[in-house]
Amino acid sequence: MKKPLRLAVLLLASLSAAFAEDALPRDSLFTRSVTEMFPKLVEIRRDIHRHPELSNEEVRTAGLVADHLRKLGLEVKTGVAKHGVVGFLKGTGEGPCVAVRADMDALPIKELRSTPYRSQNPGVMHACGHDVHTTCALGLAELLSRHKDQVRGSVKFLFQPAEEAMPATFKGDWGAKLMVAEGVMDHPRPVAVFGLHTTALVQPAGTTDDGVHYLTAGQVGFTPGIDNANSDRFHITIQGKMAHGSAPHKGVDAIAVAAEAVMALQMIKSRQTNTRQPLVISIGTIRGGDRENIIAEKVELGGTVRTYDAAFRDGVIEQMHRILKGITEAHGASYQMDYRKTYPSIINDRKLVEATLPAFRRLFGAGNVKELIPGMGGEDFSFFAQVVPGFYFRLGVANEEKGITAGGHTPLYDCDEEAIKTGVLALAAAVCDRLNAAE
Ligand SMILES: [Zn+2]
Ligand SMILES: [Zn+2]
Repeated sequence: MKKPLRLAVLLLASLSAAFAEDALPRDSLFTRSVTEMFPKLVEIRRDIHRHPELSNEEVRTAGLVADHLRKLGLEVKTGVAKHGVVGFLKGTGEGPCVAVRADMDALPIKELRSTPYRSQNPGVMHACGHDVHTTCALGLAELLSRHKDQVRGSVKFLFQPAEEAMPATFKGDWGAKLMVAEGVMDHPRPVAVFGLHTTALVQPAGTTDDGVHYLTAGQVGFTPGIDNANSDRFHITIQGKMAHGSAPHKGVDAIAVAAEAVMALQMIKSRQTNTRQPLVISIGTIRGGDRENIIAEKVELGGTVRTYDAAFRDGVIEQMHRILKGITEAHGASYQMDYRKTYPSIINDRKLVEATLPAFRRLFGAGNVKELIPGMGGEDFSFFAQVVPGFYFRLGVANEEKGITAGGHTPLYDCDEEAIKTGVLALAAAVCDRLNAAE
């Protein structure tokens, strides 16, 4: 090699080493610690997975979380929004506060996968990966407790109950909304909130097909703005008039009116709204009638509406009322609709996402940080992200070799535990980068 060329190569090599070193000390420090903590984190995850608890019943899980945080020396508050736990970790440097949220509840699903950590609570299952979310946040608390010198400020841990929503009959608020109402985002108010969600199946940006795309363990996914939908519920009662089945003209058939209403409500999506606005109106329950030979007096319909835009949603609600009013009046029936705006859409803060992605790419490789298309699901992380800028990202958990390919809320859902390392490292990088960012 000629001398000037050799010099140039040497210079380039030392420059890139200097650049890499700039980013690497914390990364390698955290990676080493997480690898060391991993067997213990797997045990915690399996313990939580074996003992799943339904929404607002997370007594054991909350106890386990609070014990762990206390052992680490965090300030702990329990009984928040029923069974929520808030942990507060103070770093060694002065700086702002950043919040991390992990939900803890499970679903009424019978687990079908036979693993050594299978649910021991019949008919209840961590089918949404909240066991892994809780484990990742506990892992983060332990990691940052070990490396307080890396925390320039403080971290507030929000272990949340009841993300999966309560039955329609439940009165009052729950979960994230209730935690916010109880003041978890105050004293101190965090400058940002982060949350992750385990995901096996995704729709990567740039794809339009309905095919199968996995987000595998070791990968993370993100959306730069809107992440999911406003997720609402409605209950409609159609009131008719009872009569003998042989003399329908003497009554008002609530079933016939309801059938017309069900079909007409679908016209909102197909004929009455801008086709560029995503909208789902699904009717999931229909109940009515007493006997084959009686004209039904009453029919109850239950369903969900999903939208992205809040003003557009209000328009949809108005259209639903117009259709229900028109159809019931036309037939001499009446209706009542109880519409509940359940969870607002999660909107990731673009600046926060942009500031966090370089660390993800550095840690996991650019190819493992995937931009995704927003879905029509709902999640109450949005209540935290309405108070301060939030970033809710996806943690890949699929692993085809291990047979972990099922989607969430199904009896075969599982998480490749390798993802726990990725989850803890991603949260740690997100939190530390935000704490170190100049105000
Ligand atoms: Zn869920
Ligand atoms: Zn979930």
